[in-house]
Amino acid sequence: MSTLVTGIGELVTCDGTGEGGIGTRVDHALVVEDGRIAWVGPASSAPAADSVIDVEGRCVTPGFVDSHAHLVFAGDRSAEFAARMAGQSYDGGGIGVSVDATRAADDATLRAALAARVAEMRAQGTTTVEVKSGYGLTVADEERALQLAAEVTDEVTYLGAHVVPAEMREDRAGYVDLVAGEMLAACAPHARWIDVFCEPASPHAFTGDESRVVLEAGREAGLELRVHGNQLDHGPGVQLACELGAASVDHCTYLSGADVDALVDAAATTSATLLPGVEFSTRSPWPDARALLDAGVSVALATDCNPGTCYSSSMPFVIALAVREMGMTPSEAVVAATRGGARALRRDDIGRIEVGARADLAVLDAPNHLHLSYRAGVPIARTLEV
Ligand SMILES: [Zn+2]
Repeated sequence: MSTLVTGIGELVTCDGTGEGGIGTRVDHALVVEDGRIAWVGPASSAPAADSVIDVEGRCVTPGFVDSHAHLVFAGDRSAEFAARMAGQSYDGGGIGVSVDATRAADDATLRAALAARVAEMRAQGTTTVEVKSGYGLTVADEERALQLAAEVTDEVTYLGAHVVPAEMREDRAGYVDLVAGEMLAACAPHARWIDVFCEPASPHAFTGDESRVVLEAGREAGLELRVHGNQLDHGPGVQLACELGAASVDHCTYLSGADVDALVDAAATTSATLLPGVEFSTRSPWPDARALLDAGVSVALATDCNPGTCYSSSMPFVIALAVREMGMTPSEAVVAATRGGARALRRDDIGRIEVGARADLAVLDAPNHLHLSYRAGVPIARTLEV
C-alpha cells in the first residue's frame, strides 16, 4: 500500500543541508510505503501510488521528536505553579506531591491519563516521545510506571533517581543502593534508558557521586544513559554525562566554560537537550542556545512535559520560546525539535524526511516552517496520518 503526499508548499527534510540543516524543498512530493518514506523528489516526476493526499499548499515537516517527558503521573500541581508565579522558588520538592498521587492511583487511571497526554502531543505534531518513570520511587511503583510507558513508546526511561522519596530522606545512601540494586533489577527489563536528576543544588535530588553510582549500575544492567543536569545551578551533571557517554544531558541552564568545552568534545555522542518550557514555567534564566550552537554542541529541544515545572506538551511552544528567548533561528529550532531530538535518542530513522526513514510526518496550516515561531500559540501543527 503506497500513498503519494503532494501539494506540499514547503517540504522540510532536516537532511542537514541549508541554514541550520533545515533542508527545505519546494514543488516536492513524497511517497510512503509500508510506514516508510519510499521516494522524495520533484512533484512533477512523482511516481503513481495507491492513494493520494493533497495537503493544499501546507508545509510538511518531520514529526517532532520529544526526547524528554514525564507522562506517567496523577494529581494536580496548578496551585504550585500559581505560587511560583507569585514569587515562591522551585527546588524540586513538589515532586513528592506527584509521587503521593501517583502511588495512590490505580493502573486504569494512570493508563488513561498517559494516553490522553500522548494524544495531546500527537495533535500538536509530535510523533515520538520519550517517557520516564520517577513518580513511583518504590520497586513496584517504578516497575508499574515503566510497564505503562512501554505501552505507548519504545523510548522508556527508568528514573528511580528522580528524588529521594520522603520516607527515605534520612537514608539517602540506602535509597541510592535501592535504585542501583533491587529497583534497577526489576525495572531494567522494561526500559531502554536510565536517567538521574543530578542536581546538588536541590536537597531532594542527587550529587555527582550518587549519580555516578546509579548510571554505572544502569549501564552494567544494559541500559543507555541520560542525565538531568545543571538545571538549578552549576553542578557536575554535564561533565558526568559527557564522561560516561550519555546520549544526552538535559536542561543545561547553568554552564561553565569547561562544561561547554566538554559538550563540544562529546558532540559525537552526547547532546545538550534544552527544555525552555521549564524556564518559562519556573521564571528562570534561559539556557544560552546560541553559545552552544556556535561552539559546535549537538543541541536538541524537548518539552520536559511534567506536572511540576512545565505542564506543556507542545513542541511548537518550545520552538517559539527557543527562537524568541534563546537566540535560535526558526530553522535551527525546528531541526533541534526533530533531527536533534532523534540524535538525543540515538535514532536515525526519525526526525528527518529521507528515503528509508519512518513516515513520521507533521503538517502545518501554514506555507512554511517559519510560522511555527511566527504564529506562537496558534495550533497550526498536527501529525499527518498517512
Ligand atoms: Zn525532566
